[in-house]
Amino acid sequence: MSKYTNQKYHLHDTFNERVISGHRTLNGALVAQAKHDAAVRKASGKNSYIPTAITQLIDGIDTVIDEFGYSREQQTTGINKNCLQGVRCPSCKQEHKFYIHSTTVAQVTDQGPQDPIDIEWNNKSHTLCPLCKLSGPMKLFKY
Ligand SMILES: [Zn+2]
Repeated sequence: MSKYTNQKYHLHDTFNERVISGHRTLNGALVAQAKHDAAVRKASGKNSYIPTAITQLIDGIDTVIDEFGYSREQQTTGINKNCLQGVRCPSCKQEHKFYIHSTTVAQVTDQGPQDPIDIEWNNKSHTLCPLCKLSGPMKLFKY
């Protein structure tokens, strides 16, 4: 651990409770995380996954963060209970945020659309993961 104290961001293997690498930027840590995932899949099969987390040194304390401010370890248990229940990126495993091509019924006046009434999508709707940029039909993201 001490050898990484000059670097603000750390990539942890939370399964084996060890620090994999240290990084000066969050982007560096995210790239290392993606490379680590790929190396695990290459070594142990495409469905293999070792949970990792990115931490940031804040006032000398290692604090778990990542792009969305939560640990990826939590993601394997299914964090969504509402609109995105059962949805997870099959590549990077995040289930926090997606871009979904959807249709809406809106009340429209001459001034323009008012508040959307209903937004709909289905298994064929084009979906994009903002973290790893994987895209495809919504069906691809269901587990
Ligand atoms: Zn993803």
